[in-house]
This record gives sequence, structure tokens and C-alpha cells, in this order.
Amino acid sequence: MNQPKLNIFCDFDGTVAVNDVGNELFRAFATEEWIAAVQEWKEGKISSRECLERECAATTISGKDLKRFCDRNPIDAAFTEFANYCRRRGYPVQILSDGLDLYITEILKREHLQWLPVYSNKMVFVNSVHIRPEFPYWEHTCGFCANCKGYHLRKARDGESVLVYVGDGLSDRCGVKEADIIFAKDELIDYCRQNGYDYIVYKNFADVLRILKKFEKEGAVPVPEPN
Ligand SMILES: [Mg+2]
Ligand SMILES: [Zn+2]
Repeated sequence: MNQPKLNIFCDFDGTVAVNDVGNELFRAFATEEWIAAVQEWKEGKISSRECLERECAATTISGKDLKRFCDRNPIDAAFTEFANYCRRRGYPVQILSDGLDLYITEILKREHLQWLPVYSNKMVFVNSVHIRPEFPYWEHTCGFCANCKGYHLRKARDGESVLVYVGDGLSDRCGVKEADIIFAKDELIDYCRQNGYDYIVYKNFADVLRILKKFEKEGAVPVPEPN
């Protein structure tokens, strides 16, 4: 059997990173306004663009603060092994995030994973302690996401590659809709279940690696594991 051609998309917050780093950042450096904004976003009242604009406006942080904050945020213990395995096999791996680039790239750099492509919103310092978001993928939005993950998967669809999505939450909704294989944990499990998407439950990237190796060997789309 030919080796399947996998193309892998990973959410960052709560997926590659153990914590929801974006939320932790606002928890640490924003006024309570960020809580209201996230609540309205979760209820579907505002887009993630509006949510990020309000959160960033409520934030005071220096470059040094940001660096120290990133140092405290670990990644999944098996992610580096996973990413390097995929690289050896020639499978593209990319980070898709509806969060902000500066903490993602800082954390990836620390882990020697700066070679991974990152598609996310941007975080810009307007002075030494204030930030604002920018939205390079806004023109492709579904109206709810700032960086709609569905767009990136549709763009990667080449009639040959198997699109694999690994995520954990609400920002992954548009991504999973376009994926061939979905790895889900936490809130994303509920979303997939409610919307009738087949998904594989995982706890960490050791699970994802093990299941994808099995897929390479057997060729069949992995059967969702009982949960
Ligand atoms: Mg997430
Ligand atoms: Zn979307």
C-alpha cells in the first residue's frame, strides 16, 4: 500500500500548549473586561475579532512580562517528538490559532520548533506596554472567527492529502468541519458529538502519534475510540 499523504493542522492553546495561553495572558495582564468579552464570545454574541480587540485594549504588558509569562507555559510533552516524526515522514504540520502570534512563536522558539508554520492573528505593541491585535486572515472569515481555520484547510485540500485536525475547543469548529480525521479533547468532543462528526478522543500527542502510526500501517481511517 502507498504511504498515505497526511497534512496536519494543530490548534495551539490547550492543544500544543498545555494551557489556554491566550486566556492565561489576559487573566494575568488585563482588567476584568476580558472575562466579559470571552463570555460574550462563548455565547456567540460577538466574533473572536471583537473579543480580541476588547481583551487587548484591556491589557497592560511589557515585552519582558511577555517573555517571562511564556517561560511559564509548557507544551505537550510529546509534541516535539510528534512534530519531528512528521517532519521525517514529510507530512506538513502547521499551527492554526485564533489567538495571537507573539506568545506562540516565543514558546515554539524555546522548544526549537520555530520551523513550524504558524497561521494566527498578530499581536502588535503600540507602545512599551500596550498591545493591539491585527487580523491578516480577516478577509477569509466566516464572520465568527478572526482567523477562520476552515479557510486554511480548504486551501490545503488537494484531492490527495488526508487532512488531520488536532484540537480542543470552540475555536476549532470551522477547522473540524473541513478535516478528514479529527482528534478531539475537552469542549471539542462535545461539539463533534452534537454535530455528528466522527472524532478520535486523545489526551496528548503521544496518543495522536500512536494512532497516526497505526493509520500509516493499516491505511484505514482510524475507528473512533470508545469514550
Ligand atoms: Mg484551543
Ligand atoms: Zn470560522
